[in-house]
Amino acid sequence: MQRTIIGFHQDEDGDWVAELSCLHNQHVRHRPPFQQRPWVLDESQRAARVGAELDCPLCDG
Ligand SMILES: [Zn+2]
Repeated sequence: MQRTIIGFHQDEDGDWVAELSCLHNQHVRHRPPFQQRPWVLDESQRAARVGAELDCPLCDG
């Protein structure tokens, strides 16, 4: 289900976690070459994605 990103925080390992409008959290890792999300490392690019949609598998149950 598509949910809106309402913010980001880092977990204890320093990986970035998106906070969704459904109050679920979803990791958005940058782990090349498997997961390419260089934008997550940049504060302004993260901020630009607040309000964007992200698929939430937890809501699909
Ligand atoms: Zn959810």
